[in-house]
Amino acid sequence: MTVTIRPLTMDQLEDLLNGECHYADELEKTEGLFSSQTVDAPLLADQYWQLMDCALAYGVNKDCFRCHRRSPEFAIYIRLQSAQTDGLEAFRLVPLSTFDYCRLLATEFKQYLWSHCSIRLRTSKMMNNTTYLSNGCPFCDVIWGDNFVMRNYRGQGGMFSNSAYDTTPIYIEPLPLFADMMPRQYPNAFNLLSRGVRLDRLMRTRNCPAASRNRVWTRILSGDVSF
Ligand SMILES: [Zn+2]
Repeated sequence: MTVTIRPLTMDQLEDLLNGECHYADELEKTEGLFSSQTVDAPLLADQYWQLMDCALAYGVNKDCFRCHRRSPEFAIYIRLQSAQTDGLEAFRLVPLSTFDYCRLLATEFKQYLWSHCSIRLRTSKMMNNTTYLSNGCPFCDVIWGDNFVMRNYRGQGGMFSNSAYDTTPIYIEPLPLFADMMPRQYPNAFNLLSRGVRLDRLMRTRNCPAASRNRVWTRILSGDVSF
């Protein structure tokens, strides 16, 4: 599999140094002027991509901050291939909330997420009482908001976002592709809450049981829909 090391442009660097880059949170982990991972260059959100791979991703989190018991946290893994630049691929972890916000998730799949993954609509006080599809503790049901799962907010991020877990595996259970092979833009795959992931952390397991039972885990894209 091709891994592309992409240099940051001087414009990106300047924005970053000026604190103007909307994606500083993602770029702060880059080494020198180069992305240390695959394609963590958010400006590529404007590109057209083909969705090549899709999976439910999870890793075992640190202990719950409230009840201190240990359980997994989840996101959707996608592999995108550029329709414009040969050999350019992006390996991304996208929060479930993004898919739900875009109304992409099937009801049956959300039921599976609740019964097997402790993912449901919860209200975040920190986010001005916003209610969204969130990771949470299966024991005490406290919300693990996207800021603490997909971002390393206050240093309390988990498997996906905290460098303390950089060498621990992320398991991926393949899901059916939800789009046809037409190139599309996937801007939300590159937003503040989505992350690049190193290939050497990914461990492919069985196909996601929810997908095989329900056949469809998300609705089919049509027209020029993007997420
Ligand atoms: Zn708990």
